[in-house]
Amino acid sequence: MSNEISRRNILRFAAIGAGVASAGALGFVPNAQAKKKKSATDPAKGVKAYPFVCGILKTQTQYMLKDTRIGTPMNIPVTFFILRHGDEWMAFDTGNNAMCAKDPVGYWGEAVTGAYYPVMQDYEEFKVQLKKLGLSPQKLKAVVLSHGHLDHAGAIDNFKGTDVPIYLQAKEIETIKNAIASGKKTAYIPDDFKVMSELNVKPLNGIFDVFGDGTVIAFPTPGHTEGHQSLAVRAYDGKRLILCADAMYTLENMIDAIPPGLAWDVPRAVEALTIFKVLSMTGTEVVPSHDPEFWKAKKLAPDLFAKANYKDEILTAYAAV
Ligand SMILES: [Zn+2]
Repeated sequence: MSNEISRRNILRFAAIGAGVASAGALGFVPNAQAKKKKSATDPAKGVKAYPFVCGILKTQTQYMLKDTRIGTPMNIPVTFFILRHGDEWMAFDTGNNAMCAKDPVGYWGEAVTGAYYPVMQDYEEFKVQLKKLGLSPQKLKAVVLSHGHLDHAGAIDNFKGTDVPIYLQAKEIETIKNAIASGKKTAYIPDDFKVMSELNVKPLNGIFDVFGDGTVIAFPTPGHTEGHQSLAVRAYDGKRLILCADAMYTLENMIDAIPPGLAWDVPRAVEALTIFKVLSMTGTEVVPSHDPEFWKAKKLAPDLFAKANYKDEILTAYAAV
């Protein structure tokens, strides 16, 4: 990747750090009534992040780390987040569709399950897990989807009959529409989107400040898919998180600059990993979507996302470069 592109992206991230709002001004204004109440989380101090796992996918290493340790079995967690901003809640991704617990091969198809076989229980569906926080889908103020792949957007049917805005980059919506039109089961499952016309889908074109105060910012990280986006979070304890989603499957992808096994554009996927590496080196915690070791060490909701213990290990790896 060129230095020019790197610089431009770093500047973009600097702008995120300063809390610059989206030019699209698609953010909603925090509810004035809610502001008067005594809140468990002060939006001015950031948000609380709750991590969830929605089963695992049985896969092989080369599908996660391109051309690496080919044929080695790898069980990866499927993850999503719920964020609390004052009295408002939002989701980042949704995990798999509930059908993965009932008929995985029938629902995802033989080709897909041959590479990624979901092992999921009924109680791991998005709307069921939300109960751990006393929530239901209609109580959320927003959903940001990183992209339309089956293990991230699989449970958008949980929002049928609600007005909850579901934010996707416009390019990702275009890709989803093409996938629906093809009727083929790929990493985009047409059946996941059969409720799409009944949902309040909002297209984004670039950076989006979800709450309008710089605490949660969606930003494009194309590479894995053309319209992929990640989420920058200013946590209540002053920590900075990047929820990378599939722009960084595992920390190994980032540390060794190994592209994901599945990529729309390999050089751009590596570019995103490079940005995450820089952010990590400057104190932001970067969160991989499918890293078994990383997630094994994490407590899940109703516990809060807590700092990982891998930091020193990563910095040692950088020092060796
Ligand atoms: Zn994906």
